[in-house]
Amino acid sequence: MTLLSNKAAAVTGSTSGIGQAIAEALAKSGANVMLNGMGDAAKIEAQRADLEKRFGIKAAYHPADMTKPAEIADMIAKTASTFGRIDVLVNNAGIQHVSPIEDFPPEKWDAIIAIDLSSSFHTIRAAIPFMKKQGWGRIIQIASAHALVASPFKAAYVAAKHGIAGLTKTVALEMAEHKITCNAICPGYVWTPLVAGQIADTAKARHMTEDQVKSDVILAAQPTHQFTTVEQIGDATVFLCSPAADNITGTTLPMDGGWTAK
Ligand code: NAD
Repeated sequence: MTLLSNKAAAVTGSTSGIGQAIAEALAKSGANVMLNGMGDAAKIEAQRADLEKRFGIKAAYHPADMTKPAEIADMIAKTASTFGRIDVLVNNAGIQHVSPIEDFPPEKWDAIIAIDLSSSFHTIRAAIPFMKKQGWGRIIQIASAHALVASPFKAAYVAAKHGIAGLTKTVALEMAEHKITCNAICPGYVWTPLVAGQIADTAKARHMTEDQVKSDVILAAQPTHQFTTVEQIGDATVFLCSPAADNITGTTLPMDGGWTAK
């Protein structure tokens, strides 16, 4: 028996980066996992089969588009019908767009608010009846340091992530007597393939070493000058599902190397 044996988790946006690592950490802890996200069908199937093989759990995939409330509701319903329950919900799917506000395309605003904020409302409202019936649930939002502080040119992302902090607190209060907790993890810069891929090009363009690009350009905001890793976020998610975190709810947990302490 491991921490999450016989439990079931749904992780939005788990076909890449942070969500993929969270799905793996939950599977390693014994949970059956519903994967979700965009991507190449064969790669997603390989990821699903790999989780089953390595961790001896059941994994499934649902292609719900996080801009579509009906598809989101179906994903939660399918999680419950496939595994017989839903204990852990991780709202991770997210996109970004960087632009001065006067040029910010309204359709990008709408997409970011839909995927980075509203999808969490839709998953939570659908999952809570199952969690209440079971008498236990863990809701983990993957927010951002931008749930706590702003940066210029990220109007929609900062608004959405601040919204997630408010939603997290509200859900925590409503669920306080149901053994259902809701917390937001707030990463700073995370080492993902997306970030790694930019380093060599930036180093070339700025005539810097790759280490200088990491510490002086990308990690300038982060006092430790260290990236958060996807594995650390996976482990923090598992911690929030452990008995040690039973009375932790409504929090925003920065994993940002001190960025928001300044
Ligand atoms: P990523 O691009 O590697 O992964 C995003 C995931 O979301 C993918 O699986 C993608 O398919 C999915 N997705 C995107 N649009 C979707 C849609 N409409 N419907 C369903 N799924 C969709 O990004 P990541 O870096 O792993 O980011 C994951 C989360 O972490 C996001 O919410 C992001 O805001 C947050 N975050 C990332 C960083 C970072 O530095 N990478 C820092 C702080 C917070």
